[in-house]
Amino acid sequence: MSTTPIIQPGQIEPPSGEIPFIYIPPRDNVFRDRAGRLRQLAEGHVMKDFLLFMAKLSDAQHAALATFPRIPLPTEAEMKLCREHGMPPLSVQSWPRDIAWQAALKKIVADVMPAATPDTRKILLRLQEMDSIALESFATAILAGEFDEMDLGAAPFVAAALQIYWTHMATTLGAQAFGANDISNLCPVCTSPPVSSIIRIGGAENALRYLCCSVCNTQWHMVRVKCTNCESTKGISYYMIESSSGAVKAETCEECGTYLKIMYMDKDPLVDPVADDLATLALDLMMDESGKLRSGPNLFLISTSAIAA
Ligand SMILES: [Zn+2]
Ligand SMILES: [Zn+2]
Repeated sequence: MSTTPIIQPGQIEPPSGEIPFIYIPPRDNVFRDRAGRLRQLAEGHVMKDFLLFMAKLSDAQHAALATFPRIPLPTEAEMKLCREHGMPPLSVQSWPRDIAWQAALKKIVADVMPAATPDTRKILLRLQEMDSIALESFATAILAGEFDEMDLGAAPFVAAALQIYWTHMATTLGAQAFGANDISNLCPVCTSPPVSSIIRIGGAENALRYLCCSVCNTQWHMVRVKCTNCESTKGISYYMIESSSGAVKAETCEECGTYLKIMYMDKDPLVDPVADDLATLALDLMMDESGKLRSGPNLFLISTSAIAA
C-alpha cells in the first residue's frame, strides 16, 4: 500500500542553526534497549527464534561495551581539523583500527554460544579458530561493504564486535566532538551507510528525521521527504505492511531505484533502527519483488543480492 507525502522537504524544519545535527544514543542504553525491543518484537513473530537470538547478541554487545578498555582516540587538534573540513574523524576505511575489537568478538562469541543452535555453534567455533590476520581481513571486507564471497553466517558476529569498537569511540567523544559531513548520506563519525532512518520525538529533535549508522549507532540529521541515497525530492513514496501499525515504512525513490526504511517514534516511541528493521523483513521482500534495492545494509542480515552498490 502506498501513501503520498503530506509534507514537503524542509517544510516543518526549524532554521538549520537550531537543529541538533548529531544524536548519539546513551552508551548505557543503546544495546540494552535494542535487546529489550527485540524480545518485545519476538512475541508471536514468525521469526521469533531468530529475534530472540539477536536479543542475546545485543545483550552480549551491551556487556562487551561496558567493559571495553581504554584505547587511542583522535586528539582534539585532529577532531578540530576534521570539523573544519567536513571529514569524519573515525572513518571505517582509514582510521587505524585497534585490535581491541577482536577481544570484544571473543567475549561476544563466548556469551552467545550457550544460546546458539547446533548450526550457529559451528559458525562460532569457526570464528574462534580464525587467527588475528584473518579476522582483520574479514573486518575490512564488512566495513567496505564487500559482501561477495564472505562467510555470511559469521558476518553478524564480526559486525557486532566492530559496532562495539566504533560505538565505544563515538560515545566516548560525544556528539559535540563531531561536525557535519560533506557527504550527507554517510555517517559523519565513521563514513558508514545508514541502516534505516528515524523520525524522532521530544526535545529539540522533535519531528526531525535522522539517519542511523549501521556501525557506530550515531544518528545524523537529514530533512524529510528526500531520498537518503541520491537526495532527490521527486518520486518519493512510502510503503508499509497492511496489517502493521505504520511505525515502519519503506521510503522509496524512483530516481535511483532504492529504498531505506523509515521509523516513526510518534507511532511507537520504542522503535529501534536495527531491531525494527530485522523484524520487518517482510517489507524487504515486498521491495525486492518490486525491483528496489536497499541503499544501506543491516549487518545482522546481510544479503549479497539486495544491496545497492
Ligand atoms: Zn557511524
Ligand atoms: Zn534516490
